Amino acid sequence: MFHEVQRDSQSELMTGISVELFEYSLSWLQREGWAIVSLEECLERLAADDQSRRYAVLTFDDGYRDNVSVALPILERYNAPFMVYVPTGALTRTLQSWWLGLRELVRSRDDIAIDAMGIRFHCSDFRSKVAVLDKLDRWVHQDYKRGAALARTFDKAGISLSALNNRYFLDECALQELARHPLASIGGHTTSHAALATLDATSARTELADNRNYLENLIQLPVLHLAYPYGSCGPREEHLAKESGYLSAVTTRHGQLSDGQLNQFALPRIGMSSRFDTESSFAAKMNGVQLALQTLLARQSHRRQLKDASRLACPPPTVG
Ligand SMILES: [Zn+2]
Repeated sequence: MFHEVQRDSQSELMTGISVELFEYSLSWLQREGWAIVSLEECLERLAADDQSRRYAVLTFDDGYRDNVSVALPILERYNAPFMVYVPTGALTRTLQSWWLGLRELVRSRDDIAIDAMGIRFHCSDFRSKVAVLDKLDRWVHQDYKRGAALARTFDKAGISLSALNNRYFLDECALQELARHPLASIGGHTTSHAALATLDATSARTELADNRNYLENLIQLPVLHLAYPYGSCGPREEHLAKESGYLSAVTTRHGQLSDGQLNQFALPRIGMSSRFDTESSFAAKMNGVQLALQTLLARQSHRRQLKDASRLACPPPTVG
């Protein structure tokens, strides 16, 4: 799972993946004998339980311009198929892209006041800016309504989300052109990049259906695959995705397709970003080493919790 593929990831405060790490990822896959296949082919292989060769699917969320200007020439060189999941609001420039607004705010200022948070930050160097942006992003991820509450802060700072949408996201013409590229597939990502699980069923259904109709009209091709924005999904969203005519849906749940029972409407992914990843962490993620370690640590901590709980449940016998 990729988002932005950046030529200068420092100036973008490490919010995407650097072009160097992106290229390394593809060269590693090739060197290690992995096939890079389209999502369609992946689903066919899964249905046929074809385990003859390791394979990977490359996905990009949100439809950033750099997916075409930076990543596409590399993808062409590796003859690598890929999927781009696009929310309507990115193309119509109406997206409440709070994450772009926050990045712009932190990048352009050393003193930041977030009214909705009731807090001020001072960040004058690269490291403190990355740390502050990380804190702000996490704050919104705890409750997505906070994204909209940042509008006043952006207004006061003269930051226009619509202008940022225009600067960073593909426009309609560019998406039409990308959809005609033999390596590219376009998937749905809702109208407003909504956290579907927080919406009522009618609104969630509308978000899915309107985005799918919009994309199909624009690119004149069927749109059959979905990514849940923020990975916000559960059994209800899986059902709604199926009902909206999608054939698969990806989450942000970390994992490999071979892990456990396969649910075509809750496919796991392996996320890559320059803020957290390096060449060696990519290899560890792909080999499953990282997941194996996480599982081991989680089991150990679970066992510890059980031990503590049983100790509490059986207090020592009282004297007397
Ligand atoms: Zn997204």
